[in-house]
Amino acid sequence: MTTTAVHAGLEGAIADLRQSIGSEFVLTEPYHRAIRSSSAAPFGVHLWQDTLPDLVVRPGSTADVIEIVRIANRWKVPIVPRGAGAGLADGAMPLRRGIVVDIKRMHDVLEIDDDNMTVTVQPGINMMELNKILRPLNVWFPDDPASYPVNVLGGRVGTGGWSLVGAGYGHIPNNVVSMEVVTPTGEVIRVGEGGARKIRKASTGYRMKELFIGHQGTLGIVTELTLDLSPRPEVEFPAFFAVRDWRDSWRLTQTLGKSGLKTISGIFQFDERKVDFLRRDDEAWIPLPDWVQGATGVICYGREAEVNAAKPIIFDLAKEAGATYLGQEMSEGDWASRHDRYHLAYHGRSGGKIKLMAWSIDDCAVQWSELPAVKKRWYEIADALVAKHPEHFDVWGMFMYTNNPFRPWGDHLTELDMGINELEMTPEIWADWIEAKTEIARTAVRHGGSVSACHGGTREGEVNVSCYEELAEGQFELMKKLKRLLDPENIMNPGKYNLDEAYEGDAR
Ligand SMILES: Cc1cc2nc3c(=O)[nH]c(=O)nc-3n(C[C@H](O)[C@H](O)[C@H](O)COP(=O)(O)OP(=O)(O)OC[C@H]3O[C@@H](n4cnc5c(N)ncnc54)[C@H](O)[C@@H]3O)c2cc1C
Repeated sequence: MTTTAVHAGLEGAIADLRQSIGSEFVLTEPYHRAIRSSSAAPFGVHLWQDTLPDLVVRPGSTADVIEIVRIANRWKVPIVPRGAGAGLADGAMPLRRGIVVDIKRMHDVLEIDDDNMTVTVQPGINMMELNKILRPLNVWFPDDPASYPVNVLGGRVGTGGWSLVGAGYGHIPNNVVSMEVVTPTGEVIRVGEGGARKIRKASTGYRMKELFIGHQGTLGIVTELTLDLSPRPEVEFPAFFAVRDWRDSWRLTQTLGKSGLKTISGIFQFDERKVDFLRRDDEAWIPLPDWVQGATGVICYGREAEVNAAKPIIFDLAKEAGATYLGQEMSEGDWASRHDRYHLAYHGRSGGKIKLMAWSIDDCAVQWSELPAVKKRWYEIADALVAKHPEHFDVWGMFMYTNNPFRPWGDHLTELDMGINELEMTPEIWADWIEAKTEIARTAVRHGGSVSACHGGTREGEVNVSCYEELAEGQFELMKKLKRLLDPENIMNPGKYNLDEAYEGDAR
């Protein structure tokens, strides 16, 4: 075995895991571990060895997961659940090394109940795969993140994910009906609305389901999920409108959101610097004329008759706002490319020069009225960073999307995209980056927003603002008490959300 273990019980844990789960599913080679040392968000490549797990286990059943958790407790070796590893909050990064539990072997559909519109699955299934299976029944699971072809359901629950069509169909917390969870001490529980598996609204007991969504693998491992299905929409209608001033796009978003049109499933804004980035970027290249300084996109889903009735109202509202329709090809093309953005590391065609840069995103939740002030401050912070380190950072502009589930108004997932040259990172430049990220997160909170609408506020540069500023009014203190109660040995994903504080004073 090649390992850089720091856990005294590691050898014992490996022996027990091989015995219980099977040697072929207990992986200790460096290449198996290295690929699971990071997730999709930019990280300091100079730091990667710090998060190299000691081993990887691939359970095939709930019984396997129970065994893994019990062995981890016995030998006091941390475990970190991992889905597709595409999370953008470092959730699946093993900050204290230990055992990565790769759940992707558990990918079966256990039951489709189209009478009651639910599907029950294991956590390693991908949404695209699931929807292929559901298609002949004319139903779908409407979770549509930009990372749709990659993520698996366990990871979606681990982050409490957000969907591009959530204004019409809800987000992950709304669409998971109930779950089977293996707790940090190895017990199996079911959480949902009340105790039933397929009931969407009950008033029995505490609302435990919410506790086990978005915890970033710190409170257990989801081993089975019952999901809410929706009728497959008959038609999809995207329409994109260009404006001369981003503020017109900001106002149009609100007008469309409050229009009362039920088929609207999401509304998106591109600001002037995002439009500029799309003109120069190699991957998401949309060469709009110079007068375009912002855009609003709207997506409708539903029965053809309903969507057709909504179209003229949308066009009239856009016209009144002074916005210009970008045409069917660009509208459909842009919406169709929503799952393709940013996954490549090569970006920017400025002066014919392509740069190797990773994508960094801030995904704060911000109220509509605060967007202009937050935008202004974020660019001040980002531009100062680029001015100091022009070879290491680039500003890629902002997107804003409807965030409120089932209602296209109110708060917006507000995204500042930046390019970061991970490969030439130094500790000093990394420290400047973290400082900038902290200020970006703080700005959202000071304007009444949240550090994260979907990824989780767990990254360096966000986590202190999440815990000590956003969750300051008792929530973080309660999180620590719950963590300590449910996970007495701090086995589950230690180091995340500053929850190690719950164990301070212990001799561990
Ligand atoms: C290009 C791109 C676009 C993206 N767009 C969106 C978007 O539109 N909306 C959005 O919400 N997110 C988006 N993301 C972020 C991300 O992919 C999601 O948040 C997603 O939910 C992560 O799923 P995963 O399977 O990759 O999980 P991972 O990254 O493997 O894990 C995420 C977290 O869940 C925990 N976890 C994994 N499995 C389990 C389990 N079985 N039980 C308990 N905890 C578990 C992990 O420990 C970790 O903390 C995007 C990412 C990329 C790279």
